[in-house]
Amino acid sequence: MRIDELLKGASERLSSVSETALLDAQLLLAHVLAVSTSYFYTWPEKEVSVRDSERFNVLLSRRELGEPVAYLLGEQSFWSLDLEVAPCTLIPRADTERLVEVALSVLDISKVNRILDLGTGTGAIALSLASEHPRSIIVGVDLVEEAVALAKRNAVRNQLSNATFMQSSWFESLEGGELFDLIVSNPPYIDPEDAHLSQGDVRFEPKSALVAENHGMADIEHIIQVAPRFMKQGAYLMFEHGYDQAIAVQKCFVEAGFIAVESFQDLGGNDRVTIG
Ligand code: GLN
Repeated sequence: MRIDELLKGASERLSSVSETALLDAQLLLAHVLAVSTSYFYTWPEKEVSVRDSERFNVLLSRRELGEPVAYLLGEQSFWSLDLEVAPCTLIPRADTERLVEVALSVLDISKVNRILDLGTGTGAIALSLASEHPRSIIVGVDLVEEAVALAKRNAVRNQLSNATFMQSSWFESLEGGELFDLIVSNPPYIDPEDAHLSQGDVRFEPKSALVAENHGMADIEHIIQVAPRFMKQGAYLMFEHGYDQAIAVQKCFVEAGFIAVESFQDLGGNDRVTIG
């Protein structure tokens, strides 16, 4: 079958499950054919082999059942990086790039900064900061061994040697260790009762990376309480959090003695990142 016909049929099949049906179909076919999506505009009439059509069909069927495109491709771009992704971790999102931007705005580029990323997942935040600050030293930790291995592969894939990764439940494996200039985290922050959890891509992502007790605040509260023991004088702590959690997060920061507490908005205009 011709590329244009194949894509038309595929995007019709995906239209009931995805708001970006044609784009999804293009990304999946580009993956199968090992080309970029621009190829489809140059060669719409090219024939696709039976073998490639079958491989494409398998991916379409999985997408029809809701599996996220990023898991089907096994990769996702974030910041200036190309990251391997897998179902053991959250898929990096554009909202989290906001946290990277805010982090970069408080770091002194002329210094060797020591940075800790809690719940690093794919390593997205740690590696973005590592790429922007080649002299800084970044440690990323995650509870899930498989995620730690994935983040290490992402460091190699993006040729970044100033970020290292280790298994740890928040600060646990760092006890008695060094102090940091900046601690960042995109922790689980969704309320276990949130209806959002039964819709779209999140259904396929690990609950341990998404959901936290106490209306989504439990992990953020824990980190705010323990973090000061791991921070240099004048260091920063910052989180990504839910669109409606800024006030609660600010209150926690202030109660724990943090100053200069401030929130920043995401692309959708919601308070998404808070720093202290
Ligand atoms: N922002 C993500 C979502 O709403 C959740 C990320 C997280 O819990 N850290 O799907």
